[in-house]
Amino acid sequence: MQLTIDLTDRDVLVAGSDTMARQAVRRYRNAGAVVHRISVPSAAACDGLLARRPFLVAVVDDGDAGWLPLVEGCKEAGIPVAFEPPAGEEGHVTLVGGGPGALDLLTVGALDALRDADVVFYDRLAPYQELADLTSAELVDVGKQPGHHKVTQRDIEKLMVEAALLGKNVVRLKGGDPYVFGRGGEEVAACVAADVPVRVVSGVTSAISVPAAAGIPVTHREVSRMFTVVSGHAPLTDKEHLHLAGLGGTIVVLMGIGTLPQLAAGLRRAGMNADMPMAVVERGYRPGQRTTIADLGTIETAATGCSNPAVLVIGEVVRVAEANRNHAQASAELSRLAASLLEA
Ligand code: SAH
Repeated sequence: MQLTIDLTDRDVLVAGSDTMARQAVRRYRNAGAVVHRISVPSAAACDGLLARRPFLVAVVDDGDAGWLPLVEGCKEAGIPVAFEPPAGEEGHVTLVGGGPGALDLLTVGALDALRDADVVFYDRLAPYQELADLTSAELVDVGKQPGHHKVTQRDIEKLMVEAALLGKNVVRLKGGDPYVFGRGGEEVAACVAADVPVRVVSGVTSAISVPAAAGIPVTHREVSRMFTVVSGHAPLTDKEHLHLAGLGGTIVVLMGIGTLPQLAAGLRRAGMNADMPMAVVERGYRPGQRTTIADLGTIETAATGCSNPAVLVIGEVVRVAEANRNHAQASAELSRLAASLLEA
């Protein structure tokens, strides 16, 4: 259960060891509460604090059974108690896949890691706008705009490692999944080399979810039984075009706007039909999401105004989305017609 209560200027007593309660303390302070602390259970101190009737008592699960009398005391006095998870072991890094940018595509694991963080290094493709509501951690934008790197990859790795070595819990929040064109492997290696404990929380990759946002399934029975995810960061070679065209499945391209003309021409040279459907899905799950559908022969002109971030989809599955859309439109029209006939 999750409750939202306005805590502005309310007295909140946070009970729990300093290390394990540090994030709960920050969360309540950020919510505007006046935080009072007790870090070691003591009957006399607890009685004294309860006598002042705090609005809420937050008990952090620091493993000390000595907090039980405090919980009992609250019950007797009718003071609500919130049980808080402890801060995780200090000084580790968690690489978190943030999904394509929609809050509801963040995993439970991602939310837990964010709650446990002291500092978050985030990218522009991660759902960063809502971060302040999800974590009390310090937020550091290391986002890279296409073309110019704001903070270099090596510097990001250094920042992460240094923060963890200082005892902070670090979240590296990335768009989509950390291991899909996310340089997650390098960041894990940097932590391992520095003896910093590191783990990875997988995320929902844009390679699947952004086509889905446009109604395109990357596989579909009897239409496509495979999908290949390709980086369009640099143009593909003719050998790669040949292999891709030869597979006969769906092709999903990330970072592909800049090389779209070369890709379309290369696949045509490799024997793919010019009428193979192709979609460009821009800004999936964000304001201004837009889908442009054309075919391999016409996409270059159709997608002239398209910009990053975008996912390209090449394959017959694009028709499935069109068929579903047409079906939905036809049903809506049929309902309107039926309603007007009934009225008449
Ligand atoms: N690790 C990420 C991909 C990083 S590469 C993942 O798994 O999704 C960055 C590329 O991802 C962008 O250039 C774009 O092609 C794609 N992308 C990520 N989020 C997107 C979104 N919301 N809409 C469209 N494309 C997106």
